[in-house]
Amino acid sequence: MPKQNEYKVVILGSGPAGLTAAIYASRASLEPLVVEGGDGSDPTDLPGGQLMLTTEVENFPGFAEGIMGPELMQRMRQQAERFGAEFATGAVRRADLRQRPFVLELGESRVSAQTLIVATGARARWTGLPDELEFRTKGLGVSACATCDGFFYRGKQVLVVGGGDTAMEEASFLTKFAREVTVVHRREGFRASRIMLEKARANPRIAWLTDTVLERYVGNEQTKLTGVVVRNVKTGATREVPAQGVFMAIGHEPNTAIFRGQLEMDETGYLLTKDGTTATSVPGVFAAGDVADHRYRQAITAAGTGCMAAIDAERFLSH
Ligand code: FAD
Ligand code: NAP
Repeated sequence: MPKQNEYKVVILGSGPAGLTAAIYASRASLEPLVVEGGDGSDPTDLPGGQLMLTTEVENFPGFAEGIMGPELMQRMRQQAERFGAEFATGAVRRADLRQRPFVLELGESRVSAQTLIVATGARARWTGLPDELEFRTKGLGVSACATCDGFFYRGKQVLVVGGGDTAMEEASFLTKFAREVTVVHRREGFRASRIMLEKARANPRIAWLTDTVLERYVGNEQTKLTGVVVRNVKTGATREVPAQGVFMAIGHEPNTAIFRGQLEMDETGYLLTKDGTTATSVPGVFAAGDVADHRYRQAITAAGTGCMAAIDAERFLSH
């Protein structure tokens, strides 16, 4: 429950973008409120953001030996707390940007914000196959987080769907548990960075199924997942591949639904910002991190734009 009714700065999201904005805004004595996110409706949407779902982060500057994702986020949170940032649990479900100050609904509470920093990030994308939601939410063998669920697949056969860095990382991680890991990708070429792809390619416990898409999950509540029907996109041939687990790694969607019709977005829902700043189409609303970045989507770029958003908000308030 927020302590005040009105804040100079409210930050939505507690990933690297939101927490960096919180460090800067609190050091500037703006006493920001950080709404942390993760209302429990989705096990992969957590306070701390996407890095809570990963193991080692090797490319965040300052950690020469690497750092575990959750530890990095804990440290950023502590740093923001040190300068007086206030934290509220849960997610904002409605935002009215037509009023000034802006009005945000957070559970049963309403808070007003003179400026708003949207750092709501992105969430895993799903294929939308029949029964996917049931397999996902009932723990029947479909997941988007190897760090969270990999342990349950000790000695089993699992598929990782996707051809990006996440797919490579998830596949490599899952070889610690699973008997067999197969990467299923819809085309021949991979979007993953060379270093990640080469590392996965060098792992003898990873098999590869390219030009292939999932058609149907096989299994039920009693048996859980027993296999997946896949289709070769070039030949059209289908076959059933045995699997007890499927890990989806087909990208992410920006968390911008509550701003539809209020903030300008591109056709895929990413927020649009102006002239190399974090300013959105509504004066006083700033966007930072993955929510406005479909190109780089890295912890350090999210943190960088979080810093920019706090400075932009401070300047907006002082004018
Ligand atoms: P996020 O981290 O997505 O955080 C968004 C936050 O907003 C979440 O806490 C969410 O709960 C909250 N939220 C959402 N909606 C609302 C709402 N309505 N109200 C309030 N809060 C809300 N990048 C690297 O640089 N190095 C890596 O090694 C690396 N590894 C990765 C591994 C995995 C498995 C994944 C998925 C990504 C990885 N990335 C990595 C990318 C990196 O995690 C992201 O670029 C970064 O987390 C984006 O930060 P963000 O603050 O913009 O958003
Ligand atoms: P991504 O780069 O967008 O890759 C998504 C993959 O899924 C692509 O290969 C895509 O295929 C495939 N795909 C998309 N929709 C599909 C569908 N409906 N059916 C089947 N396949 C589908 O996403 P990501 O791998 O999650 O990476 C996101 C960002 O995080 C990237 O910037 C990445 O560098 C970063 N990241 C970094 C690290 C690291 O540095 N250690 C680790 C993880 C993630 P196509 O290629 O055919 O489009």
